[in-house]
Amino acid sequence: MFSRTLGLLFWMAVAGIAGYWLSPASGPLLGAFAVCFFTVLKDLWKGQKIAKWLRQDNVQDPPNFGGIWGDLIDRMRRILREQIRKTKYEQKRLQDFLLAIQASPNGVVLLDAEGRIEWCNQTAALHLGVDSKRDLMQHVMHLVRDPVFNKYFSSDDHQTEVVIEGRNSSLQKTFKLSVQLHSYGESRQLLLTRDVTAITHADAMRRDFVANVSHEIRTPLTVMSGFIETLQSLKLETDERDRYLELMSVQAERMQDLVNDLLILSQLEGSSLPSSNDPVPIESFMVGIESEARGLSAAQLQAGEAPQILNFESPLGVQLIGASKELHSAVSNIVNNAVRYTPSGGVISAIWSQLADERIQFSVVDTGPGIAPEHLPRLTERFYRVDRSRSRESGGTGLGLAIAKHVLQRHGGELKIESELGKGSRFTLIFPASRVLNAGQSHKTLG
Ligand code: ADP
Repeated sequence: MFSRTLGLLFWMAVAGIAGYWLSPASGPLLGAFAVCFFTVLKDLWKGQKIAKWLRQDNVQDPPNFGGIWGDLIDRMRRILREQIRKTKYEQKRLQDFLLAIQASPNGVVLLDAEGRIEWCNQTAALHLGVDSKRDLMQHVMHLVRDPVFNKYFSSDDHQTEVVIEGRNSSLQKTFKLSVQLHSYGESRQLLLTRDVTAITHADAMRRDFVANVSHEIRTPLTVMSGFIETLQSLKLETDERDRYLELMSVQAERMQDLVNDLLILSQLEGSSLPSSNDPVPIESFMVGIESEARGLSAAQLQAGEAPQILNFESPLGVQLIGASKELHSAVSNIVNNAVRYTPSGGVISAIWSQLADERIQFSVVDTGPGIAPEHLPRLTERFYRVDRSRSRESGGTGLGLAIAKHVLQRHGGELKIESELGKGSRFTLIFPASRVLNAGQSHKTLG
């Protein structure tokens, strides 16, 4: 600044002297004025050039001036560069932040003070059926037309979440959404959505299960307390008394079977997957199953009826790798079902066979009443029965096939049910080749 002033004074003096040489009266003043005028003009031109440069986005090519203007340009360039770097950094952070919210399994909607959508992630768009671009600045109530949501949104109490029906619900499948509003900033609101379909389904299943168990236990309990009352209040003959006690023991057995099956199910759910190292020799394993089935068949045979014909076939030397107790539950359940549901004189075949791809299957084919096609997909549901009284009469708990399916799943296998009404049924347990150990084959560890 100082050198510039000195330079200006120097040139004013030079112009003054030159002016004096041309016209001693007004020359010096005019000369000095001309230097001032041209200096201002030159500065104006430089200022103009700098303003034009600043208006451009590119700060890389500044005007090439020296002196005070050069310093100014240099400083401006440094400040601008720093600002650009900061803006880029903030933009990147914002981008990362938005990407993180996009990746969230929960829906996030930012609402302005009026309740208009400022931004939403894809999950929220899917949950609420809105378009994350087209519906921006639309009022959320105009887009989410659920009475429960509208009431919740209009109220002041947003302490808890509410559950509404998801936009992609259909007659076949309903989606449940939990939504909650949170205030932030200046009267802004954050709307969070969460898919709770699985949780509500599990809750409903748990409630149904508890209701079913209570019902199953209440029935024999009611019968038993009736008998107890009768025994307490009436003086009965020994024969009659024995008959009542016999009926009570049947009911107690029913409750015991139910509790046993419930325990098996809870163990299946709570325990780690079956061992991959324990080979179960099928032939000896089937000895117990066969004698159990023959005993059951004989026990249910009424006088004068033709006995059932039971065929059992097991492969020699083949071993199945798995949990023998679980396998016993699954196999005995489907064999005993065939015995229980097939009328006297019927034929039941329980056959193990190996498939071409080395998988092994166990099929139980009966000539029983068969099952109508509409029941087939639901047979493995807990407590689902085609004929309730028939199941109870024969000592069923309604849990046998649910247990069998669970055991098969845990062993990497599958349960297949084929049946034709009036002709009979075929229940097949298929085990993967990795669980089969053929005769002479050494023990292998499952991958
Ligand atoms: P349950 O204890 O009632 O037998 P399950 O889960 O073992 O329960 O079987 C479910 C239902 O499937 C039974 O109630 C019965 O209606 C039907 N079912 C099972 N096995 C047979 C079969 N071999 N023949 C006809 N119906 C069967």
